[in-house]
Amino acid sequence: MKKYINRLYKKDFNSYCNMIKNDLKNDKKRFIVTVNPETLMMSKKDEEVRRLLTNRAVSLVPDGIIVVKTSKWLKMPVKERITGIELMQELLNIANVNSYSMYLFGAKKDILSTLVKRIKEEYPHINLLGATDGYVKNKDAIMKKIIKLKPDICLVALGIPEQEKLILKYYDKAEKGIFMGVGGSFDVLSGCKKRAPRIFIKLNLEWLYRIIKEPKRLKRFYKSNIKYLKKINELKKGKKD
Ligand code: UDP
Repeated sequence: MKKYINRLYKKDFNSYCNMIKNDLKNDKKRFIVTVNPETLMMSKKDEEVRRLLTNRAVSLVPDGIIVVKTSKWLKMPVKERITGIELMQELLNIANVNSYSMYLFGAKKDILSTLVKRIKEEYPHINLLGATDGYVKNKDAIMKKIIKLKPDICLVALGIPEQEKLILKYYDKAEKGIFMGVGGSFDVLSGCKKRAPRIFIKLNLEWLYRIIKEPKRLKRFYKSNIKYLKKINELKKGKKD
């Protein structure tokens, strides 16, 4: 667990965005994985997730306040949260300013078409190469198509860890591009689902808002966050990783 936490990006959101801008300018590729307790706990049981978190080609950023706090407890401090949704918004801005190309893959059909409409209106200079919903039978075929199209930015919204596993499978073949799994961000940025109100975000209680809105998330929350905190507590007491 510690070795993954130690690989998280340590500086602030703006410095990270500057790195992405540089990558895009120089056609350098980057695979961004937003890490939360759920991802870290998955590594215990899932060999592919372990490979993802240790892969040198993968850029890990700290999503989730618990990850930020625990990095401090373990004396590997990261500066702040870098959330998938905020990164996606920034990528849309960067793409619009520079007329970069983009491909969107994931979410339900109606949500995706609402998002595409919004992007066309609000970010008119983005060169949208295509958008495919996340419920197609052959997801591999879509990824192969994306790799051939060589978008500057490819956002995949299939939920963790499926989106990351799929990107990882094809990332070696990509010549360029920023690839990122964005979970439920298409749902939110399409306007179909609300992000937590500002006050929840400010007080680091976004997770609570999501549970209130979708109580079925409680089990998932327990399985990942509570167990993660127990694990971190053990590590703090000097137990072996
Ligand atoms: N999704 C999809 N195909 C699937 C399963 C899920 O496109 O086979 C989408 C789903 O519609 C949603 C996103 O993946 O837009 C996952 O959202 P969630 O909020 O669960 O993501 P996370 O909590 O992983 O960020």
